[in-house]
Amino acid sequence: MAVDPRCTNHVRFQKTLGMNDWYLGSDQERPLGTVQMLGKLKAPMFKAARPWAPELPLKYVANHSVDLYLTTEDVPKPENRVRLDGHGQIWVDWTSNNLSSHSELLKRVGRTMKRAGYPLILAERMGIETNSHRCGTAAMGEDPAGSVIDRDCRAHDLTNLWLLDSSGFPSSAGLNPALTIAANALRVIDTGVIHA
Ligand SMILES: Cc1cc2nc3c(=O)[nH]c(=O)nc-3n(C[C@H](O)[C@H](O)[C@H](O)COP(=O)(O)OP(=O)(O)OC[C@H]3O[C@@H](n4cnc5c(N)ncnc54)[C@H](O)[C@@H]3O)c2cc1C
Repeated sequence: MAVDPRCTNHVRFQKTLGMNDWYLGSDQERPLGTVQMLGKLKAPMFKAARPWAPELPLKYVANHSVDLYLTTEDVPKPENRVRLDGHGQIWVDWTSNNLSSHSELLKRVGRTMKRAGYPLILAERMGIETNSHRCGTAAMGEDPAGSVIDRDCRAHDLTNLWLLDSSGFPSSAGLNPALTIAANALRVIDTGVIHA
């Protein structure tokens, strides 16, 4: 959140804006990620996350902020996976990584928003409870020993099984995945490899 206590944000219908300006071009090993608008945050949304906070200051901050959503990818790690235990329970094992890229993205966006006139930057990192962009765990690859599906999303060891969702992504790319999922599915169908 970029906050200017002197300036009220009167927006009612928030425009959607996305930026890839910081995706490449840093000395980090990985892309920094992407930036998009976060709709408009309102005081009741903060209240859910900060039940102890008095409503008035929350309202004041919400009415004076521009809200952004920064996405950096968790890079693939074999330990980060979805698994089934012996009792049929599903577990999501997740430890965040690539945090230096994320910190650099946050620094650059914060600096830019300050230059744009917002003296106060408030940031909160979202955890596993915000797991809307899940990718991987049935990764695509040439080697059956280290991957589940091939480049056409066909299972290495089951000839009549294709996985056309994001589970085959070797990496998430730090982007909203839905369009890539759809484009990849259309690509595989166009190759004609899937048949009844
Ligand atoms: C809150 C939230 C916000 C998101 N926002 C964005 C966004 O802004 N942009 C973006 O790109 N992505 C966004 N995503 C991610 C995106 O929605 C998913 O990555 C995408 O929908 C996954 O597509 P899919 O086809 O692989 O799976 P799904 O869309 O989950 O489709 C799977 C389908 O299979 C059905 N199904 C499951 N089991 C069975 C069964 N046994 N038999 C028959 N059918 C079954 C399900 O009902 C479902 O319809 C968001 C996700 C969440 C949760």
